[in-house]
Amino acid sequence: MRVDVVEVRVVRVPLVRPFATSQGTTREREAIVARVVGEAEGWGESETRDGAIDMATLDASLRLDGVSLAAHLGGVRAAIDSTATVGFEDDVGEFVDLGYRSIKFKVAPGRPVPSIPSGITAQVDANGSYAACPGRVAELDELGLVAIEQPLAPDDLAGHAELKARLRTPICLDESVTSAGALDARACSAVCVKPWRVGGLVGARAVHDRCVELHLDAKVGGMLETGIGRSAALALASLPGFTLPADLSASDRYFAEDLTEPLVLDGDGRLAVPAGPGLGVEVRRDVVDRYTISVEREDVR
Ligand code: MG
Repeated sequence: MRVDVVEVRVVRVPLVRPFATSQGTTREREAIVARVVGEAEGWGESETRDGAIDMATLDASLRLDGVSLAAHLGGVRAAIDSTATVGFEDDVGEFVDLGYRSIKFKVAPGRPVPSIPSGITAQVDANGSYAACPGRVAELDELGLVAIEQPLAPDDLAGHAELKARLRTPICLDESVTSAGALDARACSAVCVKPWRVGGLVGARAVHDRCVELHLDAKVGGMLETGIGRSAALALASLPGFTLPADLSASDRYFAEDLTEPLVLDGDGRLAVPAGPGLGVEVRRDVVDRYTISVEREDVR
């Protein structure tokens, strides 16, 4: 596919409400967004410049061929169970009222243990905050959770293996998972796959495939992506080995105004996997322009 122009922007999009976790409070999402223009136009979002350009090039090429990203990756689902992640300052009832059936609570030692609303599939994410007090992870074991995510430090696989042997609740690793080769089935029962941490969509599919081989549950993780990155993550989440609800929520969980047409929950707390060519969503140029803080344009013809 011929590419004439590559445009790379940094965007800063305000969050609809501050998001507080053991790692601090986030008030805006800063992301790298790429657009390629040639035989077709394509968009990408990533934590890195190259990652954003790769996704935009793939989007353009799939749009040209009329193939959805989900089909290209081998996806099998038309919709996925959506999860709202509840930060320290959030009211879980609000998300239940919005229709979420899967909730992930951010937790840390010393903070109140979450109370789980009835009928909700619940997970917790400690982001490694129990590293200094692994014994205290047991306080989360009686909550009936689908998973306890990353209780200990990323490099503490032995510690996670001990917890896996001792606790009833499945241990899910997130920050520890940097590649398919880094998976260790002794240390976890489930894996959170963040494309941007494992080398993009191709790396994420490799981690997915390895999880299937090792009989590990898996889910797609989110990092406050805008609609561009989130559409790609939804396509990824439609692969058959992603057996847990994805850490992906509707656009209005984080943004008053998304960079794409809004992604919305259906009546069962699910998000549709975009079925159109490429990312399968319409990017809103006016909104992208409004939140762009820098832009670099290269003619590559
Ligand atoms: Mg996590």
